[in-house]
Amino acid sequence: MNIILFGPPGAGKGTQAKLLQEEFQIPQLSTGDIFRAAIKNETPLGVKVKSILDAGELVPDQTVVDLVADELKKEKYSGGYILDGFPRTVPQAEAFDRMLENNNASLDAFIELSVPEEELVKRILSRGEGRSDDTEDKVKNRLSVYQNETKPVLNHYQKQDLVKHIDGIGTVEEIFDRIKSELKEIA
Ligand code: AMP
Repeated sequence: MNIILFGPPGAGKGTQAKLLQEEFQIPQLSTGDIFRAAIKNETPLGVKVKSILDAGELVPDQTVVDLVADELKKEKYSGGYILDGFPRTVPQAEAFDRMLENNNASLDAFIELSVPEEELVKRILSRGEGRSDDTEDKVKNRLSVYQNETKPVLNHYQKQDLVKHIDGIGTVEEIFDRIKSELKEIA
């Protein structure tokens, strides 16, 4: 099963991706986690993207697409995967369509977690993960980047009739149950 978890920063994508990973035994691929690890380890990729993440801006499409294409070649993703944080722009979504096509694979679901903006800011500022992009001005920038560049990705998948809307307000367990019942229909 190949799934995209989509939603604004603070919607709970990472938390839900980890629960889905356990439930369905398919690995999560988080581009944000990969970038943060690269920055921590000071790899060439990390050095390249550090100031971009710090500013809450987006890493260039080609860099992200190359990274995901390489990552998905790994054996561990051969039985499916949960994408968290990718695709984040329409060109990334188009590149991902081509990747699937080249591998004779398809997407099973695009899960959109929806959470009102006031709640997102509150959640991010209180999550205390120590992320350099979790400060108030960076969060505001990330939310505006989401509105302008990422939200149109939804429309791309609506055209493919793959979107499942999930109310992202509630406890972690409640939201997880909503996602599972949507996935039951396709599993
Ligand atoms: P996340 O952990 O998904 O919130 O991602 C943290 C940061 O990593 C984002 O604010 C971007 O700077 C960068 N990033 C992660 N995924 C992508 C992507 N698909 N395209 C561009 N930048 C990304």
